[in-house]
Amino acid sequence: MKIYDVAFLGMGASSLSTLRLHYQNSSLSIVGIDKNYNSNRNNFFAFWLTDWMKEFDEVIKYRWHNWQFNYNDLCISHESKEMPYCVIKFQEWKNYCLKNFNNLIIKEQNVIELKRLNGHFEINLEDGEKIYSKKIYDSRTPNEQSDKLKQHFLGHIIRSDEVKNKNFVNLMDFRVSQENGLHFMYILPLQSNELLVESTVFSKAVLNKNWYEEKIKDYIENNLKLKNYELVEEERGILPMYAINNQNSENYINLGSRGGATKISSGYAFSFFLRKLKSSQNEMNQNYHSFWDNWMDKIFVNYLENNIRTEKIFKNMVRSLNGDEFASFMMGTAKLNTKLKIIYSMPKLGFLRSFFQSLSY
Ligand SMILES: Cc1cc2nc3c(=O)[nH]c(=O)nc-3n(C[C@H](O)[C@H](O)[C@H](O)COP(=O)(O)OP(=O)(O)OC[C@H]3O[C@@H](n4cnc5c(N)ncnc54)[C@H](O)[C@@H]3O)c2cc1C
Repeated sequence: MKIYDVAFLGMGASSLSTLRLHYQNSSLSIVGIDKNYNSNRNNFFAFWLTDWMKEFDEVIKYRWHNWQFNYNDLCISHESKEMPYCVIKFQEWKNYCLKNFNNLIIKEQNVIELKRLNGHFEINLEDGEKIYSKKIYDSRTPNEQSDKLKQHFLGHIIRSDEVKNKNFVNLMDFRVSQENGLHFMYILPLQSNELLVESTVFSKAVLNKNWYEEKIKDYIENNLKLKNYELVEEERGILPMYAINNQNSENYINLGSRGGATKISSGYAFSFFLRKLKSSQNEMNQNYHSFWDNWMDKIFVNYLENNIRTEKIFKNMVRSLNGDEFASFMMGTAKLNTKLKIIYSMPKLGFLRSFFQSLSY
């Protein structure tokens, strides 16, 4: 019976990153199991450029120094020379992380059960095969919690000769219908004739795919004023706006979303698990975000839950910060002064209510 040294359950972004950063020159035997290993998934991972992300420069696909927020009555622009907004594509990240790995066995299978035996684990696959490993990294998608707030979205990359490309990102455009939760469009200008147009909603209930499709179509035709365009690619996601606390134990480590990497107020996780991989050798440690950032995020999400139809909290916060301050807040590197500006910008009554509710979680 073969017992691998290391098994990855799920071979998504966090497992790939762990392989690259912790196992690149290792001679251990490694197995990676993913039910969708050969899928054509190719979503973007966005982040503001921080010190710990600079070594991945060669895989950054696009970067922008300017971004905007649009409301019915206001447009706010930010600029950052130091911390541009960057994206990496999933397939390029996968190739980068797996370059030169020859001690990795891949199984495209669904993991249905995991058992701890004496000194190793038994992994049961859907086709009946059993795999054994001394150590487990588990990044299988955590179950969705139906009663909690989520960020859910559908994005279309479109191509059109009518695209007049701008060099700024539209991070949140709230000039769209708000009937099913807080809704905004997220626009990335890609090549000269391509755009990512993403319809994003904050609500407990995820919507049917055709709902987002209609909103994207409507936005392309009525806001962007494009008549002829083609769909090139699509990405879809449901991200938790609540804490996920799966506990690590000896030789069993939860990674990525499952390990609690998601910043609940924004859905960003990618650069946070990379920061942790680069900074900490203690794998049992699950602190992706500081105590203070977690606490602020809880208040923020609680406020959104109580005021689901208003974008006011985003408007106030974004208006109170410059580009560098905003980017640092999003990436968890903000100075105390920036955090105080954010707290001061919050709607006072709603903030206080959310503050007290957050103490009882
Ligand atoms: C479309 C999309 C866009 C995102 N954009 C950003 C962004 O711009 N910036 C950012 O910071 N974060 C972003 N995120 C959030 C986060 O960074 C990603 O979700 C990231 O992929 C999390 O990595 P992960 O390894 O935890 O999960 P995943 O990358 O989802 O990997 C989990 C893997 O487990 C596999 N799996 C699940 N169950 C089983 C099973 N039972 N058996 C075998 N395999 C299984 C899945 O097939 C999948 O490949 C995005 C998420 C999505 C979905």
